[in-house]
Amino acid sequence: MNALRLRDDLANIPSYRQGKAAPASQPGNEIFKISSNENPYPPLPSVQHCIAELTSGINRYPDSSGAVLVEALAARYDIESAHIVLGSGSVEIVSQLIRATSGPGDEVLFAWRSFEAYPMLVRAAGAKPVMVPLNAEHGHDLDAMIEAITERTRLIMVCNPNNPTGTTVPLAELQRFLDRVPEHITVLIDEAYQQFNRQDKAPDGVQLFNERSNVTVAHTFSKAYGLAGMRVGYAIAPASLAQAMRAVAIPFGVTTLAQRAAVASLEAEPELQLRVEALVAERDRVSAALTAAGVAFPESQANFIWFPYGEETIRVAELLEERGLLVRPFAGEGFRATIAETAANDRLIEVLSEYAAR
Ligand SMILES: *Cc1c(COP(=O)(O)O)cnc(C)c1O
Repeated sequence: MNALRLRDDLANIPSYRQGKAAPASQPGNEIFKISSNENPYPPLPSVQHCIAELTSGINRYPDSSGAVLVEALAARYDIESAHIVLGSGSVEIVSQLIRATSGPGDEVLFAWRSFEAYPMLVRAAGAKPVMVPLNAEHGHDLDAMIEAITERTRLIMVCNPNNPTGTTVPLAELQRFLDRVPEHITVLIDEAYQQFNRQDKAPDGVQLFNERSNVTVAHTFSKAYGLAGMRVGYAIAPASLAQAMRAVAIPFGVTTLAQRAAVASLEAEPELQLRVEALVAERDRVSAALTAAGVAFPESQANFIWFPYGEETIRVAELLEERGLLVRPFAGEGFRATIAETAANDRLIEVLSEYAAR
């Protein structure tokens, strides 16, 4: 019998499941980890150079305010720096937002299935996750989300494009939704995959932030910018909320290396944009090939594709694993596969086409 007194409400919280690590590849039999939506490109030389230069200074604490990065972001988006909050990845930004708005007795509303971290972060704050099922097209059911609002709702999270389904919310629908959300409720637009969205009239979270008093945007350097291992993300939030988020942030949570790598990445945006374009082209190539082979899946506007194989999910994921592709399966629902190196994408097309033709 454990005598330690722990919070009862934490007993059933699942911990975050990381995508399987790829074992070492054998010559001629490369194994690809396409389970975590990572950018397959190595860091830019300029970013690697700036990280290398800084390592001799890591006996010192970082600038806790991240002033240089905050100023660079303020200039990038033409907003005041008071609106910018940094976090150790945008996972920490989501956590700050939840804890700044919600506690025991409060409700945080989001679609499901969506980002796996949401339910556990809400419960870690002692608040209640209210999860509204996606519609039949694997997208947000915004009308059902409006209906799920109660007196206790403090925060609504809209993941756009949605992880893991890759679906998007059209601007007109999102505007109509925001018109109906009471102004005292914060709406987070999680734009971790925004750079990959080629939808006509895609919502721009920063513009919605500028237009409305209760909209907050979360961005990350982990995906399009390829800095997942550095851990840095940010929010653009109304000033009062930004201040509350800083109050619940972990001091010194964003390292000097992460801050500087992010600044270097902002400076290298045109170069990074070419990589994003290449990944979008690969996504479209994979989508077209699989559609032609008779594989059904929702159109993705992110750097991954959702394959709703239902009861066949684990079987197909195992087939892929036998062929060196590690995807992210959700038993009984589907799996998510990241658009990665061309060789990995080719193999995904091959295996799923074979399965469709069996
Ligand atoms: C990957 C991801 C994030 C953030 O990841 P960090 O590495 O913590 O910045 C946030 N939201 C969604 C939906 C994601 O998929």
